[in-house]
Amino acid sequence: MSTTEPGEIVESSQVAAQWARIRGRLQNEVGDVEYRTWLRQMTLVGVEGDEVTVHLPTRFLRDWVSSRYGTRLNALWQLENESIRRVDIRVGGTVAPIATPAEAAPARPAQPEPMNLVTTPVFEPNSDDRPESRMDLAAALDSRFTFDAFVVGKPNEFAYACARRVAEAPASQGFNPLFLYGGVGLGKTHLMHAIAWELAARNEAAGKRLVSVAYMSAEKFMYRFIAAIRTQSTMEFKEQLRSVDVLMIDDLQFLIGKDNTQEEFFHTFNYLVEAGKQIVVSSDKSPSALDGLEDRLRTRLGCGMVADLHTTTYELRISILETKAARAGIPVPTKVLEYLAHKITSNVRELEGALNRLIAHANLFGRPITLEATHEVLHDLLKAHDRRISIEEIQKRVAEHYAIRLTDMSSARRARQVARPRQVAMYLAKQLTSRSLPEIGRKFGNRDHTTVMHAVSRVNELMERDGSFAEDVELLRRLLES
Ligand code: ADP
Ligand code: MG
Repeated sequence: MSTTEPGEIVESSQVAAQWARIRGRLQNEVGDVEYRTWLRQMTLVGVEGDEVTVHLPTRFLRDWVSSRYGTRLNALWQLENESIRRVDIRVGGTVAPIATPAEAAPARPAQPEPMNLVTTPVFEPNSDDRPESRMDLAAALDSRFTFDAFVVGKPNEFAYACARRVAEAPASQGFNPLFLYGGVGLGKTHLMHAIAWELAARNEAAGKRLVSVAYMSAEKFMYRFIAAIRTQSTMEFKEQLRSVDVLMIDDLQFLIGKDNTQEEFFHTFNYLVEAGKQIVVSSDKSPSALDGLEDRLRTRLGCGMVADLHTTTYELRISILETKAARAGIPVPTKVLEYLAHKITSNVRELEGALNRLIAHANLFGRPITLEATHEVLHDLLKAHDRRISIEEIQKRVAEHYAIRLTDMSSARRARQVARPRQVAMYLAKQLTSRSLPEIGRKFGNRDHTTVMHAVSRVNELMERDGSFAEDVELLRRLLES
């Protein structure tokens, strides 16, 4: 995707190198955790005259980054490139939680983008007609996410078996749609990509006709749908979707509350199932738990195969670590693997991240991986995992964020501008600490536990209705957890 607009003058490779150096420096200066939380999502839009434009995906991130890092960004740019006088940080680009459609849809190309089509076999003569499709495939599907690379254990064996089955015999009775669900970082996306790769490989081997697979996140589905409406090309969009053999939609929960997009998905879904095509969907919850999804869609989603990925067990974590270490070809002592499997229990993504950091470190310094080296390299990460968040800390952060006085967290004032932040703080206290409702109530000016309960459900309700509010709360949580 080109990120520059016509009229912008960018010495692209040079500017890209400067930008990479600036990001590297920032990361060094602020540390990994902070960088990942706030800065990683910056994208360089371009340079025009003496001004650099940088995008961040949400308003909240934009404000945060401008106020805390704006000056530093300016200075770093000037160091790299004297002609730069101003860094303009704007909302743009795409990412997770979406606000209202009108606001979320960024400036997009006028044409709907091509889908990610897997076309096989690659060497069939008419695959020459579709070079774009093949490039898209490379961009969209992670080549590491194959069945071979997926470590199977009790928590995921059922989902794995279902995914394999779909790849071997798409659209078979009882497996259409395949609905995969589970928490973050447990392998949903990995399994979906694996299905696509397997389908591609099988078709290539059998010299069969081209099979097309469209894989996209629900969020992307929505963006494309909105873009199609805006450019009056919904017919094209629909045709594109309806011409595929396998449609995969990742993270379906994003469609909650997006009624028009749900409607469109529902029709496409019905059309494809009736035409004997396979659908694979992933989500963080089971169909029946997806509140806010239209009933008829929920029903249809649940009528194929529903498979969940459970949280990992110690045994699975160990075998994942062993497999990944072996693949990397670096000896990692069993003690280290055990230590990691004990400490990092949240999900596979974090586990993998920790191991990768160890391996990178070992490669960089040519030192063997030891338990001491592990403590040292993963210090901040493990600290974050050990850390207990206090209610005081939550109150302080939330008060800061909404620019109210800390004392208002326990005051009797009921004005909306203090009551709402107070509710958010109560909500986060419930989510992030193990305190009981009465204990939380006491910390908020001796309030009753029913007040806390009310705050929790009110915030939940608001988060569902108001995307930018949800985004705010989500980012506060991330900040507190980091
Ligand atoms: P999700 O989509 O459920 O949030 P992902 O599929 O993106 O999670 O998985 C997160 C990371 O963990 C990926 O790098 C993936 O390869 C890895 N991963 C998850 N489960 C497994 C597994 N069972 N074996 C190997 N790698 C895994
Ligand atoms: Mg995923």
